Amino acid sequence: MSVANLYKDAGDKPIISFEFFRAKTEKAEQNLEKVLDLLSETKHDYMSVTFGAGGSTREGSYELIDKLKNDRGLNVVAYIAGIGLGPDDLTEVLDKFKNQGIETVFVIQGDEPQGDVAFQSHPDALAHATDLLAFIKDRYDFRLGAAGYPEGHINAESLEKDIEYAKLKQDNGAEYIVAQYFYDNRFFYDYVDRCRAIGVTIPIIPGIMPIYTVKLLEILTSVCGSSLPDDVRNGLDSIPADDKEGVVQFGIELATQQCRELLKHGVPGLHFYTMNRGKSVNGIVNTLQNEGLL
Ligand SMILES: Cc1cc2nc3c(=O)[nH]c(=O)nc-3n(C[C@H](O)[C@H](O)[C@H](O)COP(=O)(O)OP(=O)(O)OC[C@H]3O[C@@H](n4cnc5c(N)ncnc54)[C@H](O)[C@@H]3O)c2cc1C
Repeated sequence: MSVANLYKDAGDKPIISFEFFRAKTEKAEQNLEKVLDLLSETKHDYMSVTFGAGGSTREGSYELIDKLKNDRGLNVVAYIAGIGLGPDDLTEVLDKFKNQGIETVFVIQGDEPQGDVAFQSHPDALAHATDLLAFIKDRYDFRLGAAGYPEGHINAESLEKDIEYAKLKQDNGAEYIVAQYFYDNRFFYDYVDRCRAIGVTIPIIPGIMPIYTVKLLEILTSVCGSSLPDDVRNGLDSIPADDKEGVVQFGIELATQQCRELLKHGVPGLHFYTMNRGKSVNGIVNTLQNEGLL
């Protein structure tokens, strides 16, 4: 079933999704296999595969899609990031997705690859995800999703403007929104209310990023702009610097509590940014399931 329909037909049942990216080394590939073994047995409704901005990693994304969809028989959403790509490149990627049997495409703009001196944008590259949604809607019958930012996109003129673009994403064909991660649920509730107030009616799914390591958290914070509440920072500060497992457990407990509250609030699903790691998401989802929340 297409993912857009999953959300449409879910009723009170939250839709659970896990996001992966292509593995960059052989070791990472072996690790990803183990993670997939674990998470394909963990309660979920679909998996999603990211797309490297600029398209340089597209072969890896195709392979991962094949692995999940055709080797493992899982329900898969393919991402496309439009940055730098011309119409022919976009068509090539979308045709490939079609041949792979993909029904739902998640449409994002992507960021210019940092430090890639070879990156050159095509002169006819589209400026925004809103344009890419319209491009795809005009040419293909994929079902479409798009990204939203409860704290505002890091380059947004304002949160208000960003929310107007969420409405434009819906108008241009998006049937659901997956939100950037956040650690204070009030950002999400407020974002949803503000989207609803201007006519965004499609499901808005919270993105969940368990804290995996302090280093990764710091990188993500600088790239994504999601804020870190004081209680989370203080909790992390209380863990000895060399206690990596302590950080993982802290991240699991924090995300589990965050998800409990979101589920009790009636969210239509939970989207987990796995960062190609299995243990945390498996632990969180199993606990929520044992508590009867999933
Ligand atoms: C769930 C999720 C998945 C992601 N997956 C990937 C991935 O696979 N690969 C990857 O490279 N990146 C990914 N990203 C990161 C994303 O590409 C970056 O956040 C990027 O900077 C913005 O993408 P977007 O689709 O939201 O862009 P846009 O919607 O184009 O927004 C970018 C900026 O432009 C503004 N804007 C939006 N529309 C318009 C418009 N019509 N006119 C003027 N301004 C506008 C917005 O306010 C915002 O500041 C993901 C993000 C999320 C939340």
